[in-house]
Amino acid sequence: MNVAELRRTIDLTAAGEEMYGLIAELYPICRSITGDGVRQTLARLARDIELVCHEVPTGTRVFDWTVPREWNIRDAWVKNAQGERVIDFRRSNLHVLQYSTPVRRTVGVDELRQHLHSIPEHPQWIPYRSSYYEDAWGFCIEHERRAQLTDQAYEVCIDSRLEDGSLTYGECAIAGGSDDEFLFSTHTCHPSLCNDNLSGVALAAQLAKQLAPLELRYSYRFLFIPGTIGSITWLSRNAPRLSRIRHGLVVACVGDGGAFRYKRSRCGAEIDRASEHVLRHAGADYEVRDFTPYGYDERQYCSPGFDLPVGSLTRTPNDCFPEYHTSADDLGFITPRNLSESLRCYLEVIDLVESNRRYASTNPKGEPHLGSRGLYRAVGGQPSPERAQMALLWVLNLSDGRHSLLDIAERAQLDFDTVRHAADLLAAHGLLAERE
Ligand code: ZN
Repeated sequence: MNVAELRRTIDLTAAGEEMYGLIAELYPICRSITGDGVRQTLARLARDIELVCHEVPTGTRVFDWTVPREWNIRDAWVKNAQGERVIDFRRSNLHVLQYSTPVRRTVGVDELRQHLHSIPEHPQWIPYRSSYYEDAWGFCIEHERRAQLTDQAYEVCIDSRLEDGSLTYGECAIAGGSDDEFLFSTHTCHPSLCNDNLSGVALAAQLAKQLAPLELRYSYRFLFIPGTIGSITWLSRNAPRLSRIRHGLVVACVGDGGAFRYKRSRCGAEIDRASEHVLRHAGADYEVRDFTPYGYDERQYCSPGFDLPVGSLTRTPNDCFPEYHTSADDLGFITPRNLSESLRCYLEVIDLVESNRRYASTNPKGEPHLGSRGLYRAVGGQPSPERAQMALLWVLNLSDGRHSLLDIAERAQLDFDTVRHAADLLAAHGLLAERE
């Protein structure tokens, strides 16, 4: 089975439910850029896909960065004079500033306030904050609860460890017919947050699971890595294989109900044209943005020293939805249906890239006689016979060994599936020969 057949036979509803179920399982885990939460997450993914986990020691130089100390946390709370937990890590792991240094002491309410983070515009939401590269401790709370902190002093405890260990990332490689690779990268460093980015983790895992048994043209590599430091670490350890990357997508924010948004690679690559083509013909609202050096790990893949053909396909991207990086990005913010639509869109892009070949007409002098070969009849029964016939003529005319099927689809203003179907038909009648 190939990707085109998978698209026809996959039960998208079931896949959406499965991705949502995985997110619900992973949601309670306190992940960060390092630590046991990441390991637990990868261990769960390894039940569904063939995942190799890598551990890179603290202190390892990776280009201009250094792998940081490993952070783990058991518990954290703020207690009032009655000994009640007024802020409690066990209720939500977002309550603790990520990478907080350990602390246990009594502080005056004024000092405590200096360590609190909240969002005045959304007083019922807990913000997600981190301090990876500067020693600090803090708590994140609902803004409306700040006013309730009226005691003179509070006991604070953050039972965390910040010590030499390692950075953990997961990698799933699927061999195809060629060594050329399609790279998918998703960040695994966020705690209890769903759209950003358990949705990306679940979609990437689902893609890996679906593609693994298929007959594939490209080889596929899925990276489950902490944001920024993870991609920089992977890039620094994989220099020899980078030239094999033909296409790449950063997978994030794919569970919300917003329109799809494609962010182009820096270098302007086939993946950009493929993704834009799929969105243009999907019959729904979408947006395409040029590359900007802000966002997710495409910043690293598209840094000038690599300039890889990596774009990013999301629904509503980072920073563009109010729930972003707050407790409101929860299991209610995403749906199985949105996830399944995102999966369908990704599969369509993959299918296009897998099938985007170049052909040469075997009968380039004048048009071949289509009627005598039964080709007009063959397209007559299709949902849109006129378009199918136009596709035959365009494919015959532009198949000079230089134009890909995507080139032809764009020039003819037809959808890729129609053009591919025409090419398959012509090739079956010996009128096209494949060129690499
Ligand atoms: Zn984020």
